[in-house]
Amino acid sequence: MNKIMLNILMIALLLPTNIFPSTKLKVVTATADLADFVRVIGMDKVEVVSLTSGNQDPHFIEPRPSMVMKVKNADMLVRLGMDLDIWMQSLIDASRNSKVSYGGVGYVDVSGKIDKLEVPTGKVDASMGDIHIFGNPHYWLDPENAKPILETILKKLCYQLPSETEYFQKNYKEYLQKLDSAIVVWKKKMEPYSGEKIVTYHNSWPYFAKRFGLSLVGFVEPKPGIPPTPSHIVSLIEKIKREKVKVIVMEPYFILKVAETIAEQSRSKVIVLSPSVGGIEGIKTYLDLFDYNINKLVESLKN
Ligand SMILES: [Zn+2]
Repeated sequence: MNKIMLNILMIALLLPTNIFPSTKLKVVTATADLADFVRVIGMDKVEVVSLTSGNQDPHFIEPRPSMVMKVKNADMLVRLGMDLDIWMQSLIDASRNSKVSYGGVGYVDVSGKIDKLEVPTGKVDASMGDIHIFGNPHYWLDPENAKPILETILKKLCYQLPSETEYFQKNYKEYLQKLDSAIVVWKKKMEPYSGEKIVTYHNSWPYFAKRFGLSLVGFVEPKPGIPPTPSHIVSLIEKIKREKVKVIVMEPYFILKVAETIAEQSRSKVIVLSPSVGGIEGIKTYLDLFDYNINKLVESLKN
């Protein structure tokens, strides 16, 4: 060993250990909700980064070079699947990271164990709008669906870091308890509004509506992903009046003006709910997400 090498080695040995590359499992997720799930199970054994935030429309994410780098450096990639995060494919391809490519040790699609709604039965074509051939992909908006998602993530984390299996299982069980008691509270709050009819901007809320006993009677978009036309708006206003709909639910990234015009002319009101963690300020976790959305809904339905 020459002198320079020896010096480098000596310096390295004297430095604090935290300057060395992290030994944490690097996880990249499609959404901030999935990042929260990975965090609650993986805790300090993982380093999680979400490629999107809840204030972005998850159907239309523009892949960026910085995202490719995140995927390139990841040991594990967690996606929603069902074609919602189809934009992730170009990132995976560009990253050339075989670990997180389909079939790789770190590739996770959490939609596998979900009971899917609105799976098309007949032929699907472009005239139907942005239709998802595997069914409606907004399944994380039913908090019961968090369970199969968490289970899938748990399995993969244990597979990747087998020595931490017990730790991950303990965190998973503790979180499930918290989630279960939160679901009881949310359901209780929503109980008085069972059967209430609502209109939503995009068809993002069927899983949520089903869980909490709401009835979806119409959408501001005539078809998923298609902006409203004047004739559709006219018929929707009539429908809202006829069905006595009190609220129109929209996500933060849609145009408020359109929904407000419909609300004004139909004597209903618009509420902005968050589809994911980070969609509205202060929503930092999946539990925050439902706390916020349920409280907001209850507040608008009771008047
Ligand atoms: Zn959608």
